[in-house]
Amino acid sequence: MNLTSWGNYPRMENKALPFTSIKDLETILDHHENLIPYGNGRSYGDSALSKNIIQVKPHNLFLDFDDATGQLHVQAGVLLAEILEVFVPRGWFLKVTPGTKLITVGGAIASDVHGKNHHNAGCFSECVEFFNLMLPSGDIIKCSHTDNVELFRASCGGMGLTGVILDASISLKRINSKYINQTTIKTGNLKETFAAFERYQCEPYSVAWIDCLAKDKGLGRCLLMVGDFGKDGNHSYHPKSKLNIPFNFPGFVLNKLTVKLFNRLYYGKVFKKISKQQVDIDTFFYPLDAIGHWNRIYGKNGFTQYQIILPKENSYEGLEAILSTISKSGKGSFLAVLKLYGKANNNYLSFPIEGYSLALDFKIEKGLFELLDQLDQLVIKYGGRIYLAKDVRVSRAVFEQGYPQTDTFRALRHQYHMHEKFNSLQSTRIGL
Ligand SMILES: Cc1cc2nc3c(=O)[nH]c(=O)nc-3n(C[C@H](O)[C@H](O)[C@H](O)COP(=O)(O)OP(=O)(O)OC[C@H]3O[C@@H](n4cnc5c(N)ncnc54)[C@H](O)[C@@H]3O)c2cc1C
Repeated sequence: MNLTSWGNYPRMENKALPFTSIKDLETILDHHENLIPYGNGRSYGDSALSKNIIQVKPHNLFLDFDDATGQLHVQAGVLLAEILEVFVPRGWFLKVTPGTKLITVGGAIASDVHGKNHHNAGCFSECVEFFNLMLPSGDIIKCSHTDNVELFRASCGGMGLTGVILDASISLKRINSKYINQTTIKTGNLKETFAAFERYQCEPYSVAWIDCLAKDKGLGRCLLMVGDFGKDGNHSYHPKSKLNIPFNFPGFVLNKLTVKLFNRLYYGKVFKKISKQQVDIDTFFYPLDAIGHWNRIYGKNGFTQYQIILPKENSYEGLEAILSTISKSGKGSFLAVLKLYGKANNNYLSFPIEGYSLALDFKIEKGLFELLDQLDQLVIKYGGRIYLAKDVRVSRAVFEQGYPQTDTFRALRHQYHMHEKFNSLQSTRIGL
C-alpha cells in the first residue's frame, strides 16, 4: 500500500523502505535514488512523499535517560506519545510539543516543530542537545548547537532533505502535575483578540481558535486558551482511549453550512468573557488526537492546511486582510488557529518568526488553490512565510520570498551531494 501524508493529498505510487539497523539503512542508500525519510506521516502536505520512502518509525528504541538533568536519548522513530507514556508518570514533560503527540522525534526535528509556548520556549530544536545524521555518503555525523553547526541548522526545519536523523538527545522539563490550569477568554473581534494575546503573554501556553467565517464587526473573534501546569503532584497519566473515524466521509458532508454551524456552536458554547477550568494534558495539548483518523472527515479527495506567519508589526493589518478574504470566499475552515510567536532561531528553514501565525484546514475542492494563491500574495505583501510541514502547493517564487536563507540551504545540499539522493515532491516543486 502506498504511503500518504496526513492531508491524503496528493496520492502517488511509492515504495516503503523500513529499516531498524544502520546496516539496513546503508543498503537502502546504496541501492536507491529519490529517497525521503518518513516519520509517522503527520505532515499535511508532500514533504515526506517521494518515489522511495525511508520509514524511520521501526527504528525506535529508548537509549538512555539521565534522571538528574532530564536528558533523554532515543532513536528517531520513537513517538512523542511513547515518551509521554513513560515520563509523565515520573514528573517529566516535553519542553516543546506540537498539537499532536503522534509524531516521531525525527519528524519533530526535521520540521523544527513548535507548540503553544513558542513565545517563551522557541522551537523543538531548542531542546535538542545533539542528533546523529546519516548523510547520502553513509557517513554518520553528530550535529549540535556547537558541533557541525551548519548541518544542525540545515537539518532542523530541513524537511528530511539533508539525510536521515538516526537518534537524538533531547531535554525534558519537570512538571508538578498532569493537569493544566486553563483560562479561556472570549473575544468579540480581532482587536480584542490581539489585546487578549498581549495581556496574557506571560502565560507559558497560549492558543486561540478563530471563527474564520465571522464577518464585519465580528471578524477575528476567538476563544483564547492560556494556561500552565498545576502543582498538585498528581502524575498519574493514562492516555485517553480514542474514537475512530472508520472510513472517508462523503465529500458533501463538509460544506459552507456545516462549517458555519460548527463555528457558531463552538463559539457559542462559552458564555462568559473569562472562564477557568482544570484540564488534563491530552485535552489541553492534543485535543485532535482523541479522534483516530479524523482526517477522513474531509472525504477521499483529502484536505490541506494553510499555515502562515506574519511579523508582529504587520500582523494585525495582514490578518485582517487575510481573514476578510477567506470570509468573503465562503471557504470556511472549522479549524482555524491563531498563535503568538517569539524570536526566530538561526536555522535556515525553520518556520517561526516573531509575530502571529494563522493555520486553517481546507478540503481540496474546485477554486481552493486560486484562493490560496490570492492569500499568498497578502502573506508576501505583509512580509510573512508559509509553513513547509503543512504545505502542498506553494510556488517556488512565493516560498523563496519568505525564506531568505534558501540559497545557504541549497549550497549545503550541493556540498554534501544531498540533492542527488534526497528529494521529495515538495523539494522538487520549490527547487530545493
Ligand atoms: C493534528 C496535528 C497537529 C499539528 N500541530 C502542529 C503544531 O502545533 N506545530 C507544528 O510545528 N506542527 C504541527 N503539526 C505538524 C507535525 O508536527 C509535523 O508535520 C511533523 O513533522 C510530523 O512528524 P512525523 O513524524 O509524522 O513526520 P512525517 O510527517 O512523516 O515527515 C515530516 C518531515 O520530516 C522528515 N523526516 C521525518 N523523519 C525524519 C528523520 N528521521 N530524519 C530526517 N527527516 C525526517 C520528512 O522527510 C518530512 O519532510 C501537526 C500535525 C497534525 C496532524
